[in-house]
Amino acid sequence: MNSTPTAEWAAAFRAGLAAGRAGHSYLIVGAARGEGEEVAAALLRAVFCARPDPDGVPCEACRACRAVAARTHEDAVWIEPQSRSRQIRIEEVRERVLPLVQQTAFGGGWKAAVLLQAERLTMQAANALLKTLEEPPPRTLLLLVSDAPDRLPPTIVSRCRRLRVGGEAGLLLPEERARAVELMAGLGPGAGALERMAAAQAFQETIESVRARIDKETRAESEDAEKAEREARVHSRGLEARRDLLRLLALWQRDLLLCTLGGATPGALAFPEQAETLARQAAALKPADALRRIEAVEEAYRRLERNLAAAGVLDECFRVLAARSAAAARPESRGPAR
Ligand SMILES: [Zn+2]
Repeated sequence: MNSTPTAEWAAAFRAGLAAGRAGHSYLIVGAARGEGEEVAAALLRAVFCARPDPDGVPCEACRACRAVAARTHEDAVWIEPQSRSRQIRIEEVRERVLPLVQQTAFGGGWKAAVLLQAERLTMQAANALLKTLEEPPPRTLLLLVSDAPDRLPPTIVSRCRRLRVGGEAGLLLPEERARAVELMAGLGPGAGALERMAAAQAFQETIESVRARIDKETRAESEDAEKAEREARVHSRGLEARRDLLRLLALWQRDLLLCTLGGATPGALAFPEQAETLARQAAALKPADALRRIEAVEEAYRRLERNLAAAGVLDECFRVLAARSAAAARPESRGPAR
């Protein structure tokens, strides 16, 4: 990756537009003040830039690009929660988003609305948006940015294409990612019951560390935030952190698969700095074993999304990751742990 991540987003998005593949409503999962906001701006530049390079990367210098950066583009509105109520109210949607969507763009091209911290839409405001999300007029872009997407009504979420930002580690800080890597390095084929327990503990502690951090941040942001509101936010971010951990776990298994197939060049690995550990774990595996492990992580992901008890789901998944071969890795197998 040579260009900046946001430039890549913009180029990919522009290519999607050209091919008629880009959707109109997106849920950008990331921090509203940070990468989520940057990706929203990058997508706006992708539709408004007057002089993109041949790869579709916006120039960031033309009048339109500068107007996007300054949030003064005449065909784009940015909506944030009101400072008092900390909500996005129906008036904002009715008076700023809907008129923009319904009218012809000043520039004759695209119109766009960005809703930062979209989880703070009131129920009425969310309902007012629904129809537009369902049938967006041509050349209309709706970007909802939220780091707590679980708090958005499912009717909204289901109508948006989901874009994750923040790289493979998502919400996790570098030290939290490092902890996850340690966990995976310790959970190779042949790992025993103790190692599995240690991994489960590390998994849970990493989520707790994210929750504690978010709690602190939320308190600092607003001392008078209601307790219930804060707890809901912490819960939601804890769920995102769990998804991030499972994503890393799946990437690790994908690296193992590459190793078993002989394609583990440093550029192809998600964890190039762990190449030795990966090679050691992969030495005991066949490609079919590695595939089975990827499936086990994906299955755990799906089951946790269905709210099954986390401890049991993880235990079963980690059993597969600790197994020596595909034959021993069947989830039904309840033989003595090795
Ligand atoms: Zn430009």
